[in-house]
Amino acid sequence: AAPNEAASGSDLAINLSALQENYAFLASQSSSAQCAAVIKADGYGIGLEHAAQNLSTAGCRVFFVALPQEGIRARTTLPEATIYVLNGLFGSDCAALYDQHDLRPVIGSMAELEDWQSYCRDQGKVLPCALHFDTGMNRLGMGMEQAQKIAKETELSDACEIALIMSHLACADEPMHALNSQQLDRFRAIRELFPEIPASFANSAGIFLGPDYHFDLLRPGIALYGGQAVGDHPNPMQPVATLKSRILDVRYVPQGQSISYGAAQVTKRESRIGIVSVGYADGYLRAAGSTDNHSGAHVWLDGYSLPVFGRVTMDLIMVDLTDLPVGLAKRGMWVELFGPNIPIDDVAASAGTISYELLTSLSKRALRRYL
Ligand code: PLP
Repeated sequence: AAPNEAASGSDLAINLSALQENYAFLASQSSSAQCAAVIKADGYGIGLEHAAQNLSTAGCRVFFVALPQEGIRARTTLPEATIYVLNGLFGSDCAALYDQHDLRPVIGSMAELEDWQSYCRDQGKVLPCALHFDTGMNRLGMGMEQAQKIAKETELSDACEIALIMSHLACADEPMHALNSQQLDRFRAIRELFPEIPASFANSAGIFLGPDYHFDLLRPGIALYGGQAVGDHPNPMQPVATLKSRILDVRYVPQGQSISYGAAQVTKRESRIGIVSVGYADGYLRAAGSTDNHSGAHVWLDGYSLPVFGRVTMDLIMVDLTDLPVGLAKRGMWVELFGPNIPIDDVAASAGTISYELLTSLSKRALRRYL
């Protein structure tokens, strides 16, 4: 349906059935593993509550957020679900908050484990958590030595319930990267120490590395939201977010004139330029613009893919309409910035970044519609 709100220059449509279909597709990639969903950073920018509710309807029972405050929000929408908080315990003062909202910390250090256990002992409760092991990402998580210690010394594990062990892949989006199998070998070795405890390893791209990487719980994020998990094959996911905006003006600019801030790009011919009401304040990244040395992103207008011309500004972009049949582009028409015709990953790549950053940069200004 055509966006019909006159008040907002731009329109962000979130296709919740596509989100649900993406969940079903990812879940179907493994015959034995359960499929969780990562809904941190406001559900990768699409809205945490909408993501949580719709993924739950699609059958998801286990969710991951990054921060306790995201967990608290998710708990309101998901009274029954299992919710893990990836960033774990910042300090012993966090433990009560987790308990109060029935959240499970993902524990990545002995200090965190000690905090969680002393809280459990004080309260006389055996509360669940996940243990995060570092297998090569060198960000969060404990190593082999600590894994052995926890497995051997039961007083280290008994005070709380270790409900999950997990690790995170650093290069899963590059299937041939040597680190993938190294991380897999290390995770398998850790898993042997905890044979009874479910294990989680694969993010979106990890799912496509095949069954060896699946273990018991898949942990996709970006692919749920339509992003391309693995670079060099066609994206099997449905686009979830579509950003559109309207043409404010169509103007002719003679050859040899610069357009937009910094005079970064000059017309090589007499050009017809569309001024479109979207900019970096909407989350359309400034780096998606073009200069004489760098080609920028494209937008979609009525079957044509058209380049952004010059720098992206706060509220406006300029688009080269010269190759369009005359009369096709008119003031008030909607152009697609990304969505079914302009992959979000292409716009991100033009801006030198990834779809994750583009999605989580979307601002509150674009009028949101949930379909
Ligand atoms: N697991 C962890 C620990 C993460 O930090 C993330 C996201 O960054 C994910 C899973 C989901 O990753 P992706 O969005 O690549 O599927």
